Amino acid sequence: MSPLVEYPKFRSRRISDRYIFANKEGRFFRSSTDFFHRYETQKLSDQDLKFLDDRHLLWSSKLAINASKFAQARRNTAVFEMSYLILVPTLRCNLACSYCQVSRAAESATGFDWSDQTLGQIIDLITNFSGASLKIEFQGGEPTLRPDLISAVLDAGRHIPNLTTVICTNLQQLNDKILTIFDRDEVQISTSLDGSSATHQLQRTQDKNTTSQFQRNLDFVLKRYGAEKVSALPTINPIAPPDIEQFIDAFVERGFNSIYLRPINYQGFARKRHPESIDHSERWHEYYAHFISHLIARNWSHPDQIVEEVYFSLCLSRIFRPGMDRHVDLRNPNPVGVDYIVVDYDGQIYPTDEARMLSRSGIMDLSIGDMTKGWDSPERAALNAVSTNENDPDCQTCIYQPYCGRDIIDDISRYGRIDVPRHETNFCKRHMSIFDLAFSLIYSDDEATQYSLHRWLGLSGDSAVLGETI
Ligand code: SF4
Repeated sequence: MSPLVEYPKFRSRRISDRYIFANKEGRFFRSSTDFFHRYETQKLSDQDLKFLDDRHLLWSSKLAINASKFAQARRNTAVFEMSYLILVPTLRCNLACSYCQVSRAAESATGFDWSDQTLGQIIDLITNFSGASLKIEFQGGEPTLRPDLISAVLDAGRHIPNLTTVICTNLQQLNDKILTIFDRDEVQISTSLDGSSATHQLQRTQDKNTTSQFQRNLDFVLKRYGAEKVSALPTINPIAPPDIEQFIDAFVERGFNSIYLRPINYQGFARKRHPESIDHSERWHEYYAHFISHLIARNWSHPDQIVEEVYFSLCLSRIFRPGMDRHVDLRNPNPVGVDYIVVDYDGQIYPTDEARMLSRSGIMDLSIGDMTKGWDSPERAALNAVSTNENDPDCQTCIYQPYCGRDIIDDISRYGRIDVPRHETNFCKRHMSIFDLAFSLIYSDDEATQYSLHRWLGLSGDSAVLGETI
């Protein structure tokens, strides 16, 4: 073994009776308490050093140092090109859900749709787009109230080689114009499904007929297009979460294999009505862990249909695959207004949908520009100056920093500021809990657990424990 250039630098965290160690690249292993003490007192044995060296975890040469720094840089590379547009052609909606994030306008209201000028500017933006890939997501309000605007945008993007389009719709109403759009190959349909009929009705519509209409429409599009073209996002009330088995059944029965378990993120007007929602950590973490263990048990007994929780799979990817760092909810640095923007019904541009809602509710104007002036603005620069976890004192000592991210808009929306000590934020508590859960499962010797983890990571093999131990 080569001589050490520097004593190895790891961060560690105790999980049950062992310690997880990770370096700044995010490469990790598990140790006994004895190893932990030898490491802390700088008395690693030759055998310890050999274990680390065999796994390229020692800075024993200039090459090893450069390789490590390259891996860190790869994790921290920022984004530079536009690849994702979230468009709000209308703020009007034909429902009024209690936690609506967007302070919607009534279906019959006027002045809440794109003007001809805004539509022209968006079409220019897309027509002049010269990249290879673009994702366009239509949000609302209910975007299908304006199929003409959706069609105009899609036609403008015909030249883009990899154009994907997601239409986020409440599926309350279908007609020929909407179905003609849904029929297009590049279009995906995203809707909301909160679980069983009773839960969905309670949270969304409060009305049996409206809920029945939605379910008929959901079944119709699933039959017409298949589950590959349709996704459904639930929103869970962490104070009264649904029965897990019934909830999973509501998705699985319709052929959905991915469930994105999201606690209600009240924003703007909705948060004013639900002040208890600022921090619901403990209850949520418990429910989330139960949910993952239910999925593991289900996948073991139904290997023909593997079901995943989308965010947990993303966190696993962040641990094992340093290149998978582009998800806007969990990346570092997390610049805003660079690779994606939100264009509101009035042509204002926001860094995220949450920022749009905060602004709409009059809490804080977080717009970074508009379709006339553009968005390379001092406001965007001010947000991006702090859009990283790199210099945060809590994150700098946290073992999970290489996998974690930064969401300044979430901090602003919950606390009205961005300098709350990290460990006290909802974002940190949530991610600390998810990564603790992930590492306890990675080192589980339970066959069913490893089976699901391997499937969620797209790995072959069924039962080998994914992490190494000294
Ligand atoms: S936000 Fe929390 S979990 Fe994430 S890196 Fe910072 S301290 Fe760790």
